[in-house]
Amino acid sequence: MKKIFWDKGHGGSDPGAVANGLQEKQLTHKIVEYATDYLAAHYEGFTQRVSREGDQSLTLGQRADMANKWGADVFVSVHINAGGGTGFESYVYNGGVSSQTVALQNVLHGEILFAMRGFGAITDRGKKRANYAVLRETKMPAVLTENLFIDSNDSKYLKNEAFLKAVGEAHARGIAKFLGLSQKEKPQPQPQQQVSDKKLYRVQVGAFSDRRNAENLAEELKKKGYPAIIV
Ligand SMILES: [Zn+2]
Repeated sequence: MKKIFWDKGHGGSDPGAVANGLQEKQLTHKIVEYATDYLAAHYEGFTQRVSREGDQSLTLGQRADMANKWGADVFVSVHINAGGGTGFESYVYNGGVSSQTVALQNVLHGEILFAMRGFGAITDRGKKRANYAVLRETKMPAVLTENLFIDSNDSKYLKNEAFLKAVGEAHARGIAKFLGLSQKEKPQPQPQQQVSDKKLYRVQVGAFSDRRNAENLAEELKKKGYPAIIV
């Protein structure tokens, strides 16, 4: 059973970046919820937790502690950028990181950028490294994603629910690839369905306590061309 820890960037009294009628926390919560729903629907062999089910305030240290104590196999922190730029970027810790961490960043970065580009010409700002607390203090492979800029023209994508869903699902697929999760079996198409849905109506023409009477009637019916059966 692989353990996946999702950190919804910002919450409670900390809305994160705010611009264009959008709050970072609302967007990151939606993306993570789309991700967890998608994983639950399509994959098996894992459990997942989120840093906050509701809209609580949490410190950076608390989020890393939760993942460490739980023994998560992977940690993903979801954010929206600010500062007027454009595009997508991902981060790992800028100290010593394992090859697993780099592999996680590679697969997530590729999946997310590919999904985003289904909506428009999204700039790839690159796979970056930074001294972020949640990346530094977590013991498992950890990546932080900055999903476009809330305070630039990028906001038109962030206002599109289908875009947020696609970005969430891309996070989920990236994690599933990284952990090698197996896909749930798809329900098999049922070729018998049409036949089994059809009702058959049978007509009974007589009930006799003497078998001979039944045989006589059956004979008569057969002469007239009906398929008679004695039960
Ligand atoms: Zn943030």
